[in-house]
Amino acid sequence: MNWIVQFLTWLRLLFAGWIDPPYKTIVVQALLPEKLKNKAIYIVEEDGFEEQAAMLCPRCRDHILHMNLLPDERPCWTIICHDDGTASLHPSVWRKKDCGVHFWFRRGRVFWT
Ligand SMILES: [Zn+2]
Repeated sequence: MNWIVQFLTWLRLLFAGWIDPPYKTIVVQALLPEKLKNKAIYIVEEDGFEEQAAMLCPRCRDHILHMNLLPDERPCWTIICHDDGTASLHPSVWRKKDCGVHFWFRRGRVFWT
């Protein structure tokens, strides 16, 4: 039976990028929902301005990461929404407390640094 496990592992690695869908981009007005979905990035809009982006920590899923999008506050991120419904964040997200997660978010995917 061991070869089956090995074969499935190989298959999973081969198709990981294809099976594993990117993060969804969800735009909400003014308030984040109480419970954030896994594999979703939320853009909070208020009065027509993109105020912040938020997502569950992709490493530990124990806390929410908030990225300010307002240019007159620091630190500040830029979010780009692509035609395929995914989003990219700039610069990278680095949480120095909690789990210390550090990653780039590109086209709905997490790239660990
Ligand atoms: Zn975390």
